[in-house]
Amino acid sequence: MEHTSETVAEGKLIGETSYAERAVKYTELAIDGIKIDFYDAKNKVVHEVKKSDKVEQAHIAQVKYYLYILHKNGIDDASAIIEYPKMRQKQMIGWEEGDKATVEFWVEEIRKLINLETCPPLVKLKICKKCSYYDFCYSGEVLE
Ligand code: SF4
Repeated sequence: MEHTSETVAEGKLIGETSYAERAVKYTELAIDGIKIDFYDAKNKVVHEVKKSDKVEQAHIAQVKYYLYILHKNGIDDASAIIEYPKMRQKQMIGWEEGDKATVEFWVEEIRKLINLETCPPLVKLKICKKCSYYDFCYSGEVLE
């Protein structure tokens, strides 16, 4: 759904304009269903830019999944930096003991959801309005 999301497009624009030289220095990497916009192949560092003004667990989970895919493809010592240009902050993310099991647990939980005969009930969250799946999740809802 991300290709139709204005939120994702805005985030991409912030990423590109905050670090204009980045596209020259780093490469885009598409592998096993993920697409890393800025990968520093020399130092094996994933750079992920977030437009958010707070650090969220979902951001960390996203790059942990990237690291998981890199590990699965033989890039064992990759790490990540999540950059928050609005806050002028960086969060370093390494691959730690237990991460493999954690990510595989998430993958298994998602697989179970995908294989359900019907969608689970909608859980309305504050974050939904900014989520790229909003139209999909709320398609059966009557708007107030
Ligand atoms: S319930 Fe749907 S719209 Fe809300 S956060 Fe989850 S995926 Fe996004």
